[in-house]
Amino acid sequence: MNTINHIAESYVKLSLNIGQHCEYYVDAYYGPEQWRPSTQKITLAQLKENALTIISAAELLNDVQINGQQARLDYLTVHLRASLAYIDKLAGVKLDFRSECKALYDVVPTEYDEAHFDRVLIELDALVPGKGELNQRFNEYRSEFIIPKDKLSEVFDAAINEARRRTLQNIDLPTNENFDVELVHDQVWTAYNWYKGESYSLIQLNTDIPIYIERAVDLAAHEGYPGHHLFNSLLDKELYNDRGWVEYSIYNLYGPTSLLAEGSANYGIEVAFPWQQRIIFERDTLFPLAGIDQSKAEVYYQTQTVLHKLSYADNMVAQRYIDNEITAEQAIGLLMKYSLFNEERARQRLSFIERNRSYVITYNYGQDLVRDYLATQVTNDSHKELWLEYLVLLALPKTGSMMEKPT
Ligand SMILES: [Zn+2]
Repeated sequence: MNTINHIAESYVKLSLNIGQHCEYYVDAYYGPEQWRPSTQKITLAQLKENALTIISAAELLNDVQINGQQARLDYLTVHLRASLAYIDKLAGVKLDFRSECKALYDVVPTEYDEAHFDRVLIELDALVPGKGELNQRFNEYRSEFIIPKDKLSEVFDAAINEARRRTLQNIDLPTNENFDVELVHDQVWTAYNWYKGESYSLIQLNTDIPIYIERAVDLAAHEGYPGHHLFNSLLDKELYNDRGWVEYSIYNLYGPTSLLAEGSANYGIEVAFPWQQRIIFERDTLFPLAGIDQSKAEVYYQTQTVLHKLSYADNMVAQRYIDNEITAEQAIGLLMKYSLFNEERARQRLSFIERNRSYVITYNYGQDLVRDYLATQVTNDSHKELWLEYLVLLALPKTGSMMEKPT
């Protein structure tokens, strides 16, 4: 293990072996087939020893062995430490929510309390028509904006085409890039991008829960362009294929890359669709396709702006639930109150939190961090430059602490 490439290879093999202990851990792998572990599991104690050995070897690399790739090594080291923390977690070590955020995602997110969200609810209450309890009233109101199931494919295709068109104005995509969309059931998530290598993704949409009209652009940009599909394609092409950096042939779900993956996928929605342009596209193109009354768009998007201010409520609930401060029923109550979910959706979200725990912070804090980081990189107010810096970040990724303290 005397070069950075050896460290990278050991990291990939370690990750694949951790994946033998947790089926969700390895989200994508398109590296050498012969590196896949045999069905024989390596014990967690042995994996921990392996991780510590690789970390020590990384720390001992000299300048010649690093070969001018210090930033690459820093990124890799943060990932190795996160892998070690995840091995400990699998072995039963308990971390509180905030420590887990730091250990796995390399950040401790900003926190907000109920008083903060209560003020946002007052704002929302004033916008939603009718009288009575807000959750029920809001859910009744937004039911007018559900995409009918038989229109889902058509609306989603239109959103994807537009997201792709806007992205292509700023980057040449690999000529073979492609993905399929599949409608599925019984999942804790609403949509998922499974990157399969060679610039191909399978995007799955969970149709058990209603898909509101704004979700079409959200999902098209987040899962597709310029979100996960583009991000994975760039890592695969630019870093794994062109530079031979093998650590980018694997993507560990419970690790620092997820903060950038989810954060950039969420912020990418704004990059591809600045708010006013987005409203116009949805109102004039998607509303008619879905058979929704265009005259209702303006107020609806006002409610969406306010709703977005509640996104950190998810973290508050997850933190209290993971740290055993509240019961499952209390968590569902809080999700209904502050995320405005109906009961069924709140239960689904709690299942997501139970499985993925502190991962929830990658969506909202990740998004804010990517936005703030890019603001430090863009020197004038040009949207073209924002696109450029966004793509630079995707093709040469940074962990949370690196984005928090840009050099
Ligand atoms: Zn995502």
